[in-house]
Amino acid sequence: MSRFFTDKYSKLVPYTPGEQPKDMNYIKLNTNESPFPPSSEVSEAVKNEANKLQLYCDPVCTELTSKIAELHNVDFNEVLATNGSDEILNFAFMAFCDQNNPIVFADITYGFYSVFADLNNIPYEIIPLKDDFSIDINDYIGINKNIVIANPNAPTGKYLEKADIEKIVSSNPNNIVIIDEAYIDFGGESASTLIHKYDNLLVTGTFSKSRSLAGGRLGFGIGNKDLIADLNTIKYSTNPYNVNRLTQIAGVKALENNGYYMNNCKTIIKNREYTEKALDDLGFYVIPSKANFVFAKCDKIDGGELYKKLKAKGILVRHFTKERIKDYNRITIGTMEQMEALIAAIKEIFKEAGI
Ligand code: PMP
Repeated sequence: MSRFFTDKYSKLVPYTPGEQPKDMNYIKLNTNESPFPPSSEVSEAVKNEANKLQLYCDPVCTELTSKIAELHNVDFNEVLATNGSDEILNFAFMAFCDQNNPIVFADITYGFYSVFADLNNIPYEIIPLKDDFSIDINDYIGINKNIVIANPNAPTGKYLEKADIEKIVSSNPNNIVIIDEAYIDFGGESASTLIHKYDNLLVTGTFSKSRSLAGGRLGFGIGNKDLIADLNTIKYSTNPYNVNRLTQIAGVKALENNGYYMNNCKTIIKNREYTEKALDDLGFYVIPSKANFVFAKCDKIDGGELYKKLKAKGILVRHFTKERIKDYNRITIGTMEQMEALIAAIKEIFKEAGI
């Protein structure tokens, strides 16, 4: 730390992204990326757009915003595009939370929420999930505090029905409820249509998972136009050109090729079913998932040990050291070949360990 880092941030513990090692060619099942490349139209459009990089991009993201609005059946001014959904989440924490407006989230959920809270000096309250890692919605009914829920949740993959989301949103009319739908395209139903009924609902989404654009950094928020106006105030006070030229065109083309991406989601769901069953057959306990990953543990092998042994065999999964989930690994669903390689590697590990 330098002598100049202000007290405000000196104790901040930043978010740790999933590892991206370069020492060998891993099968990457650790950061919930899509195993499928962007559609050829996306790559082509990005290549052409590169010739215009000397010019600033459209700060309003006009075409992209229209396309996102169209997909979700909402108005243009009910959408804000951002640099990944991490950015819209941070904007929302900045805009709607402070010392007098704390935020509440689950003990086992996306690790960035507590970092956004700390970064912005926002008090937060943690509500433990039930033993099976599901949300007890009674914990969120009429609590009169801002709320953020990942749905499906990460790293568990557990999904909360839209009707339950609606109960939470409607019972906290004077507080913001953020529903983080990073993984909604893998079997869930978006709550975005509820924004016309509830002015306190902000739904966030991303192109990182189902639309193969993790490296492009594209996210968005959907909410009542006044919420979006507030979020725009934050955007234009931090980085008006937050979504770069290449990413804007990539997002537009991705939505024009929606069929390709929705087909990929179907394949991921199929591969997820295969993986759940194969892991189950090997004696794993797998939490039923509606995301592009599964969260699984096995009594026969320690979670950290399995992670290390898989890495040694060239397969990366994500292990968290947090006490409550240290027995588990989060495994991204990739292609069928990748999942078969995973299962074969686990069988080998078991054999080598005499399990
Ligand atoms: N929310 C959740 C629950 C996530 O797991 C992630 C991915 N790390 C994000 C949001 C952020 O994704 P991105 O910034 O790539 O859109």
